Amino acid sequence: MTSAVEQLHAVRAKIANAEREAKRAAGAVTLVAVSKTFAAEDIRPAIEAGQRVFGENRVQEAQGKWPALKAAFADIELHLIGPLQSNKAKEAVALFDVIETLDREKIAAELSKEMTRQGRAPKLYVQVNTGSEPQKAGIEPREAVAFVKRCRDVHGLAIEGLMCIPPADENPGPHFALLEKLAREAGVAKLSMGMSGDYETAIAFGATGVRVGSAIFGNR
Ligand SMILES: *Cc1c(COP(=O)(O)O)cnc(C)c1O
Repeated sequence: MTSAVEQLHAVRAKIANAEREAKRAAGAVTLVAVSKTFAAEDIRPAIEAGQRVFGENRVQEAQGKWPALKAAFADIELHLIGPLQSNKAKEAVALFDVIETLDREKIAAELSKEMTRQGRAPKLYVQVNTGSEPQKAGIEPREAVAFVKRCRDVHGLAIEGLMCIPPADENPGPHFALLEKLAREAGVAKLSMGMSGDYETAIAFGATGVRVGSAIFGNR
């Protein structure tokens, strides 16, 4: 079996190659290593190999393993990439450095309140449901630009980027292109898109962050 550290190096090499092929600057793309379902002892070797940016999709699961790892390694950057319930906004603001899944007004209001209360300012991305899938989180594409503006104007939130998860059974390219276009219209710089199966494609479409789990840590 290939170790997570070996896979991590392989993914990094593919990212560097995809950056070159897309004529992007070296280091333009941040690797978010998605460690959901894996235990602290599985994650630690990746940290020791130099990986610092990680993604988790559940607040409660992350609370169980990340406070100790963050205490041991000061420069960890933890991303929330799963749906956020408003009753978890307090915990999310306390633990995460980037919240990628802001997708509705109520969450914007809760995050704004908690950020003021805690004096913490995680970076925020708006999740867009580019495939308009009923079961999937994210704001509808046609509402995304206005929502980013409301986050700024009504809730005082700086939005850094957009995030999407294309439908599993579709060619992801058009979804990545749509997210890139919406980001330009909304005036935000960061694009979180691409997972184990399609991160090289996402880099060609302008991803600034790719969220890769199973290609590093193995099947869940
Ligand atoms: C699990 C997950 C990933 C990583 O998926 P892999 O296919 O394992 O790379 C990326 N983004 C989100 C939102 C996820 O929930």
